[in-house]
Amino acid sequence: MHVETDVLVIGSGGAGMYAAIAAARAGAQVFLADRSLIGRGGATVMAQMTVAVALGAQTPDHWSHHLADTIRAGRGLTDERLARLLCEEGPECILEMDRWGVGWARQDGHITQAMAPGHDRPRCAYVDFLNTGPAVSKTLRTVVNKTAGIRKAGDILVVDLVRHDGEVTGAVALHLGSGAPVTIAAKATIVATGGLTRLYRRNSASANMGGDGYALALRAGAPLVDMEFVQFFPIGHLAPRLIGMDPIMWDPFRYKLGGRLLNGERQEFTSRYGTPEDGKYVITRDLATYAIIKEVEAGRGSPHGGAYLSFEHCSAAALREAFGPVIDRLAANHIDLTKMPVEVAPIAHYHMGGVVADARMETEVPGLLVAGEAVGGANGANRLSGNAITEALVFGRRAGASAAERVRGQRQAFRPADARAALDLVTADGGPSDLNTAAMIQTLQATMADEVGPFRTQAKLTRARTTIDELAAALGERPAGDGQPFDMRRIDWLDLRNALLVARIVTEAALKRAESRGAHQREDFPGMVPEWQVNQTARLRGGRLVLSSVPVAAEVAAQ
Ligand SMILES: Cc1cc2nc3c(=O)[nH]c(=O)nc-3n(C[C@H](O)[C@H](O)[C@H](O)COP(=O)(O)OP(=O)(O)OC[C@H]3O[C@@H](n4cnc5c(N)ncnc54)[C@H](O)[C@@H]3O)c2cc1C
Repeated sequence: MHVETDVLVIGSGGAGMYAAIAAARAGAQVFLADRSLIGRGGATVMAQMTVAVALGAQTPDHWSHHLADTIRAGRGLTDERLARLLCEEGPECILEMDRWGVGWARQDGHITQAMAPGHDRPRCAYVDFLNTGPAVSKTLRTVVNKTAGIRKAGDILVVDLVRHDGEVTGAVALHLGSGAPVTIAAKATIVATGGLTRLYRRNSASANMGGDGYALALRAGAPLVDMEFVQFFPIGHLAPRLIGMDPIMWDPFRYKLGGRLLNGERQEFTSRYGTPEDGKYVITRDLATYAIIKEVEAGRGSPHGGAYLSFEHCSAAALREAFGPVIDRLAANHIDLTKMPVEVAPIAHYHMGGVVADARMETEVPGLLVAGEAVGGANGANRLSGNAITEALVFGRRAGASAAERVRGQRQAFRPADARAALDLVTADGGPSDLNTAAMIQTLQATMADEVGPFRTQAKLTRARTTIDELAAALGERPAGDGQPFDMRRIDWLDLRNALLVARIVTEAALKRAESRGAHQREDFPGMVPEWQVNQTARLRGGRLVLSSVPVAAEVAAQ
């Protein structure tokens, strides 16, 4: 199969769909491709909570206050130019989504804005009940469907970008349903493939969040930044068993009702770690993660190795008013919050790092743009609640507009010969293999969780590097596969190829950063070190990974 388009958008989460809409509205022909179903894979559709945006709808606010909070949370590493875009243009996107009928919750006719940790005032919009991500995705899917100039295809796993004379000219993909190779010629390509949390054993991700976009961009010559900063969500559901619900669903409960975080001895404990909580949910994610893990290590964890989250002080009526039908879904899971606490523990949730982009969302590589969680830098060392969906929408819209501008008057530079190496991976059969790729993925996830998790040491990180290298050596250069529809051996191989490369970069960057900052905590180097107020970039040079430190201020000044 061969497709020709002006703009190729890889990934149809919030960023990809908004990019496709913006590019098509600016007159470009768009091909929107996703390895999952359009608008139903990745993180956006799973998000149930809030979108941070300085609307000032209920409390006076201004994007500069949102920016100040974002920069503070980023612990000195925030790319202020990107963060400013996020905060300044967020309101426009959120109001545009409102006009498109997303259904933001309202009070007295005003969009409701909830308080969330790290924000200086109520700033987070949402869709009731725990429906923010599904509503955002559905709205964007509807607009995509109505917008002329967008072709879309699910089941398209993009395997590599194609380059000619250093410029990205399209991509090679595997059509999962048929096993057929696909080449795509594009005058501009937007990577909107989301994050990498599937690399971790306990994660809030969908199966297709294994860091593909970082690997695609890196192999195409673009640098990555801040890759050591993986955000752990402190109160991911742990016990009792919860079926059919988002593992991070307790956050909205906390926004609305506070809730009490207790250790195994049923005592409040966060004040031991510098942030007293009085049921108002003010503790930031990195501090809460730290506090829970340290309580568990001190032998004061809950029975399954986390902390208790209790709403037992809330009346049944208050719970029902706040969460309506969700209370019935909890009851179906035998959870009655008026009578019992739940257990929660940190879970890999979001990635602050990503591809280096300028204010137009263009990368260093001509023809390659990036959007959403795939972009690095806007949140520095730690992301504020609600900033990720805003980031997806704002950066998606920008990337789409920039791509449309770029392709005007541009000719296709795609040459089939440039696609040969990637096509070989899609079609080649490495022959009989006893490689257990499923077990390899499990080993990688366990290694990342145990050795490259929220608390790191040189010994742990070095062990992780060895395991990652062993897995990469075992994987080899050519995939095993049978060329049949839904060729799982080939898909796992391709996933591991990306995941191992990205895991290696996270590990190397974490090894190098000899300090603790935001989401990167080194037990052997506690505390922030002024000399480390730098971003780390990663590049592939001649197949070798090269890490460099880039002064944050210099980067900002240079852009
Ligand atoms: C459970 C959960 C809850 C969250 N809740 C919130 C919240 O309440 N508020 C908030 O601000 N943030 C939240 N986040 C984070 C936020 O949802 C994401 O950062 C954001 O939605 C990312 O959007 P995106 O478009 O960049 O990527 P995604 O929505 O992840 O979309 C990426 C798409 O790329 C596709 N893809 C990946 N690789 C390939 C490939 N090789 N080829 C083709 N397609 C590919 C995937 O299938 C997917 O559809 C949450 C995240 C999770 C996981």
